[in-house]
Amino acid sequence: TAPSSQNFIRAAVEADQRAGKWGGRVETRFPPEPNGYLHYGHAKSICLNFGLAQAYGGVCHLRFDDTNPTKEEQEYVDAIVESVRWLGFDWGEHQYFASDYFPRMAAFAEYLISAGKAYVDSLSAEQMREYRGTLTEPGRNSPYRDRTVAENLELFNRMKAGEFPDGTHILRARIDMASPNINMRDPAIYRIRHASHHRTGDTWCVYPMYTFAHPIEDAIEHITHSLCTLEFEDQRPFYEWLLEQLAEGGFFERPLPQQIEFARLNLTYVVLSKRKLIDLVEGGHVDGWDDPRMPTLIGARRRGFTPEGFRNFAERVGISKSNSWIDMSVLEECMREHLNDTAERRVAVLDPVKLIVTNYPEGQSEECNAPNHPLKPELGTRTMPFGRELWIEREDFMEVPVKGFRRLFPGNRVRLRYGFVVECTGCEKDADGNVTAVLCEYFPDSKSGTPGADNYKVKGNLHWVSVAHGVEAEVRLYDRLFAHPHPGQRREGDAEGLERDYLDDLNPDSKRLIRARLEPSLAHVAPESRFQFERHGYFVADRFEHREGSPVFNRTVTLKDSWKN
Ligand code: ATP
Ligand code: MG
Ligand code: MG
Repeated sequence: TAPSSQNFIRAAVEADQRAGKWGGRVETRFPPEPNGYLHYGHAKSICLNFGLAQAYGGVCHLRFDDTNPTKEEQEYVDAIVESVRWLGFDWGEHQYFASDYFPRMAAFAEYLISAGKAYVDSLSAEQMREYRGTLTEPGRNSPYRDRTVAENLELFNRMKAGEFPDGTHILRARIDMASPNINMRDPAIYRIRHASHHRTGDTWCVYPMYTFAHPIEDAIEHITHSLCTLEFEDQRPFYEWLLEQLAEGGFFERPLPQQIEFARLNLTYVVLSKRKLIDLVEGGHVDGWDDPRMPTLIGARRRGFTPEGFRNFAERVGISKSNSWIDMSVLEECMREHLNDTAERRVAVLDPVKLIVTNYPEGQSEECNAPNHPLKPELGTRTMPFGRELWIEREDFMEVPVKGFRRLFPGNRVRLRYGFVVECTGCEKDADGNVTAVLCEYFPDSKSGTPGADNYKVKGNLHWVSVAHGVEAEVRLYDRLFAHPHPGQRREGDAEGLERDYLDDLNPDSKRLIRARLEPSLAHVAPESRFQFERHGYFVADRFEHREGSPVFNRTVTLKDSWKN
């Protein structure tokens, strides 16, 4: 059963179902152009389109809107397929390519010409702009607007046959040059492009404009609700005009697909425009399209973000009719919540210094039991070896403690989590005064999980890794790519006339490489395994570079939001 109306799109779908429109069918599509990698904004659209179809027992198509030959590549098609699958959606056999419809689109163009609804214009691009008019001024008819049907058909055929160079002629819908909506002033529908297409090769040298192709793609596929972002609101009259003409021509049955607009996702601390993402990669500001800091879905995957986190995020930000900004912390919190629920706990020391347990026998070790998840006993336990030499975080020791410091300092007791209570007895230093080892004594009857443990009341609770058993790893501490919520936007206090470059807002500390020590069980995990490193955050074994014997982990997100102001 369909959930109750949570937003205006669901309300519209439910109204259509009550009215029996389309026989109650819901069919949506996600229509990426295969000219780049999907980003977080696309995730919103994917969750919306697939989610809507799922909620009403319909299907969602994956359609490649590949009508622009010069920018599209198979590599992007493959990456898009992988990312949509990764997000957890399935389109069954409903995978389509707009380019498969090129023959029908050209036939529809010819039909429009025959019906007197389209003509070949031969103005230059600059002249066309001039004739188009402005928001306040109506456009003027092109001198070529009254060509006869026969003349138009002949010219369009010669365009298709490759007789003309790019830009010399263009096919336009004949609507109304005085329309208050500029998009209705005889929009271009077919242009000459002598370019090879990644799927159709050199079959075509005319290509449909997006605004012509998209409604036709929807109608061919019997889409019911065609969801798009708000920029296309002004295109809706043309969408409806075109399908109306083709329905009149007997090519499509009514009811025709309906375009519904929603606000695109704008997220702070990133950029989501394809052009800027390309600049980041080509300018070497990141390590490629799947750099964990990139707001691409392949980057998100490498960072350890989860499909469930994205789906919860899409649900949480909902959809609206007006553009607004969503704070990055909302996305991060969705990831944290899912990871907190599902990620097993492990121990990693990120900035190691040695702790020597001076009264623990040399050459000996014993196992300590640690739960894999504090709230989920069903996830089981693991053992961690304890010995005379341990790694602890450098910041967990202070020779002279500041007020309120509850961790290791001479004379103080702490619990080594899942292990023993120890009392700090001092430290060793090098000639420069740097601490090289912290010294302590342990209480043999204080082991966690034994009856004696309760006799010790301590405030500090530290994580540790056995020196003899721990494994060294590369850990990449990723943080937000930009240091400012609105990269490139003028800010209060900016000098008069200052134009900000969004690249100046890059966060210089968005990636830090460290050598860490991990508990031994982490040496054998598969790439893409996700964990909470206790007290540090969520980490993922790198999809491509993590190896048995040389672990590499990426920080997905810290335990708490460190960006709150
Ligand atoms: P860009 O402007 O970055 O190139 P695009 O919209 O041109 O993005 P497409 O591949 O054409 O990219 O987009 C496929 C679908 O994803 C479209 O239906 C589009 O509306 C949707 N989409 C793209 N960006 C966003 C966003 N920021 N928020 C929500 N939906 C988006
Ligand atoms: Mg685009
Ligand atoms: Mg687009």
